[in-house]
Amino acid sequence: MINSPLLLPVVMALAELVGAAFYVASPQGPTRNIVACFGLGFALCIVLIDVTPDATEDYLAGWAFLALGSAVGAVLMFKGGRLGAEAGNTGAIVGMGLHNICEGIVLAAAGPAVSPLIFTAAVAHKLPEGMVVFSLADRLPMAGRWLLAVGLSLLIPIGTVVDFPEEIKKPLLAFAAGVLALALTKALSVMFGLGNPAAAAADRRAVAGAVTGGAVVAGLTCLVI
Ligand SMILES: [Zn+2]
Repeated sequence: MINSPLLLPVVMALAELVGAAFYVASPQGPTRNIVACFGLGFALCIVLIDVTPDATEDYLAGWAFLALGSAVGAVLMFKGGRLGAEAGNTGAIVGMGLHNICEGIVLAAAGPAVSPLIFTAAVAHKLPEGMVVFSLADRLPMAGRWLLAVGLSLLIPIGTVVDFPEEIKKPLLAFAAGVLALALTKALSVMFGLGNPAAAAADRRAVAGAVTGGAVVAGLTCLVI
């Protein structure tokens, strides 16, 4: 057991960047798609079991903001054309940023003690989130994606020290969770080749396996941190 208030926020921020680097380093094509699908399955599970409870706990109106975010996300991602999809992805990235702030708040509340299990879970949690941020920002130039990834990862240590008012954080987080869920669903539907009869059954199985793997890892890490 190590006692350091800075250790976990810094390690989690770095792990997010390593996840982003892993995504970039994976060869384009099937391999990168599988990496992306693992991240998407992970993030979808995180929205369900981590972000949504954060946004709605002791805050009933959070469900209304969540529904509104989902409706706006659905219109943007499925009916908004290219511009709508870009706006939806931007909203999803904002959601990941808010989630990082919440993680910082949780770390500050949990105290400075870090066990090997918590350390491992924190790293396993942030690697896929780094992959997801990079895959959601795939329309930006590479330098812009890195700037974004670094900025988002810094929100974890910032969340440990800055006091964000709940009445602003919760509705924003709930709305962003809705947009995020729809952006992830859209990305997954593309990966599954829905609407594309040429997509091979083997590819779909690989996608389903990666998505399931990501969701399982997400569930396990959320049990610990
Ligand atoms: Zn997270």
